[in-house]
Amino acid sequence: MLRSMAKIAVRLDVDNAANRIVEGFYCNSRHVASRLARRFQVLAYHKVSPDPHPFFEPDHPTAFEQHMRFLSRCYRVMPLMELVERNRRGDIPHRAVAITFDDGYRDNYEYAFPILKKYGIPATIFVATGSIDTGEPLWHDRIFDSFRYTRREHVSLRHIGLRDFSLETDQLRRHSLALVLTRAKELYGHSRCKFVEEVEKALKPNLPASLKHRMLTWQQIREMHQNGIVFGSHTVTHPVLSRIPRDEVVKELSESKRQLSEHLNTTVCAFAYPNGHSADYNDEVKTVLKETGYLCAVNCESGFNHVFSDPFEIRRGKPWHKEIELFRMAFFLQRHGLN
Ligand SMILES: [Zn+2]
Repeated sequence: MLRSMAKIAVRLDVDNAANRIVEGFYCNSRHVASRLARRFQVLAYHKVSPDPHPFFEPDHPTAFEQHMRFLSRCYRVMPLMELVERNRRGDIPHRAVAITFDDGYRDNYEYAFPILKKYGIPATIFVATGSIDTGEPLWHDRIFDSFRYTRREHVSLRHIGLRDFSLETDQLRRHSLALVLTRAKELYGHSRCKFVEEVEKALKPNLPASLKHRMLTWQQIREMHQNGIVFGSHTVTHPVLSRIPRDEVVKELSESKRQLSEHLNTTVCAFAYPNGHSADYNDEVKTVLKETGYLCAVNCESGFNHVFSDPFEIRRGKPWHKEIELFRMAFFLQRHGLN
């Protein structure tokens, strides 16, 4: 029902026309408060790839291209940093949108970058620098891999504070994975490394060699940077910042900034919070961000941004649907706070 309605609406371009009318009304009406008059959305992508993943599904390049074609035709896709600056001045233009990616997967270079170039779309990629050119996977990928490539059907993790798990069905596997991820997010540094190693030891995954090359290289990052893609920090090791001591926060924020600045020979001032929900950062983290020289930070709380939003709490929405019709409807509803 919803799908059929969305298909008809998109065929008639209803979402686009309605948005133009509503945004025009906001901007022309003297009765609408200025905070409502200018709004912007930031989209958060991770992987763009035709290769399926059972626990961390990428956006298919075909769907990604449909999103980009639609946004470049109907909205004004702008660099995130320009939006941040205009947000500060209260000068957000009509139909403003920014595109971002988190983590730094190599498929951003292989599949997303050619599409962004084709449509002339600016984007910001937030990378966890500890996984660039080191062959070191992000800790959550090591846990995903353990559950994805294990042949075991029963596993005991009692010795690391969890319990015995059955992995006989997809549903049980997902449930066990969620519990392990939740526990891992509470840890940092050596304790988290040890925990992940114990998970790997217990599950004994049979890992394909291709996994070594899943993250971007500095060479690819430099090439994209030379072609207008902006890079921001997503820490060094992707910890949940509200769970770690202040000196570790300082290290994660300053070291990732230093590495990016040196490799790109530019100032790095955008940041994306790992995990990104409001419980995953706090005022102290925001203070360290400012002290370290960042100018903005994006989270993963869905919704649109009002003009004059706190630049260290910029909301981002996911690309919610594979089908362009449902994506467009979700995008429109979120833009106007109707979801
Ligand atoms: Zn991330």
